[in-house]
Amino acid sequence: MNTEKKVRTRIAPSPSGYLHIGTARTSLFCYLYAKKLKGEFIVRIEDTDKSRTEKKYEDDILDGLEWLGLKYDELYRQSERTDVYVKKLQELVESDKAYISKEKAKDDDVREVEVVRLRNPNTMLTFTDTIRGEITFDTTELGDFVIARSKTDPLYHFAVVVDDALMDITHVIRGDDHISNTPRQILILEACGFERPQYTHLPMILAPDRSKMSKRKGAVAVTEYRAQGFLPSAIINYLALLGWNGGTEKEIYSMEELVQDFSLDHLQKSGAVFDIEKLKWFNKEHRKLIPKESLTRDLKAQLEGNTGILEALERSPKAVEDLLERFSTWAELKEAVATGEYDFYEKLPVLEKDMLAWKKDPNPERMKDRLHKILELIGSVDTTTFTYENVKGAVWAYAETEGKGGVLWPMRVALSGKERSPDPFILAEALGKEETITRLNEAYTLYL
Ligand code: GLU
Repeated sequence: MNTEKKVRTRIAPSPSGYLHIGTARTSLFCYLYAKKLKGEFIVRIEDTDKSRTEKKYEDDILDGLEWLGLKYDELYRQSERTDVYVKKLQELVESDKAYISKEKAKDDDVREVEVVRLRNPNTMLTFTDTIRGEITFDTTELGDFVIARSKTDPLYHFAVVVDDALMDITHVIRGDDHISNTPRQILILEACGFERPQYTHLPMILAPDRSKMSKRKGAVAVTEYRAQGFLPSAIINYLALLGWNGGTEKEIYSMEELVQDFSLDHLQKSGAVFDIEKLKWFNKEHRKLIPKESLTRDLKAQLEGNTGILEALERSPKAVEDLLERFSTWAELKEAVATGEYDFYEKLPVLEKDMLAWKKDPNPERMKDRLHKILELIGSVDTTTFTYENVKGAVWAYAETEGKGGVLWPMRVALSGKERSPDPFILAEALGKEETITRLNEAYTLYL
């Protein structure tokens, strides 16, 4: 018979804010470890502090986990478990591992309260952390610390320990800001006669300046990344590599691959810097894994209302590719569209002679000739097969003999009216033959 205990991990967020990117990473590691070992991943909402918790945050956390694909096997709320804690507290007092102490209330000198204190054995306590190894702590420093404000009002550490034990948590994986809580929690656990879980304290995720991540330094909530249009699979992949590596060069992972490869042995000791550019790169890479049709549909959905761009995308697969290559997120794309970067798909550009000339070439005769020639070459391409390749095929040889910039620059500016835009063949395919000719003619007449 297999006597090994089933692996059970848990994430214990307090619903006092939106799902934090750090909590998401801890959840991911808990999830991966549990799933790898065919165990269970549990969510325990630590909502006992009524003044700090809100239902909307709990909803956001659970919704965010689901969106990321971190499916939990069980869900608990500490606020629904007071009876369990009170019973355990009573047992501790009865066995004299803890005692009731009449004390003056902290907030007022007259009122007396009956707090519960743990009998501290005052020893050197050693525990093993997966990442840091043995950590020894002199518990004398803690004194007989308070574990409940009253016989019916247990404090945080007590609830955590009771929950972890009664929920059969085998591995406590959490942020290393909880290392200092561990000795206190182990003392409670030993007083209760519970078994120790294996502790893994993950180094923090840091802002680029290596300080703590904070709202001032960028988005910290998963929901903000979701709103910007990041794919959950990209966020998962990026978070996995923030503090873990598979021991190879492999960078792109699906959730299934992560489950397969994950282990607690490859966790890094130092804090991991959150790099938004890297996350954007992952987003682009994960987009490539989505079937083209459905990705194009998503792209178009983002551009609803921008008729000209939508028509251009309808005509031109190259224009679709161009947008996907240029923008890592939908938010970036929408921002560019809103600021008019793509208005040449919506309306005729206003042309400036100065801009049309390659390297400000002041020779009007040459410009006139070139535009004339481009018009002639493009005119020969059939309307129904006015594709990127065919337009390029028609103009390319001429551009090479004249010098590419001297031909492609004015062609591109004539079509877009901008110093920066997609290349002229993309523009031509996206605008269609008629519009392309109209715009080139428009440029040509400036030189008549
Ligand atoms: N509620 C704690 C937090 O959100 C987690 C405590 C724990 O994992 O033991 O950081």
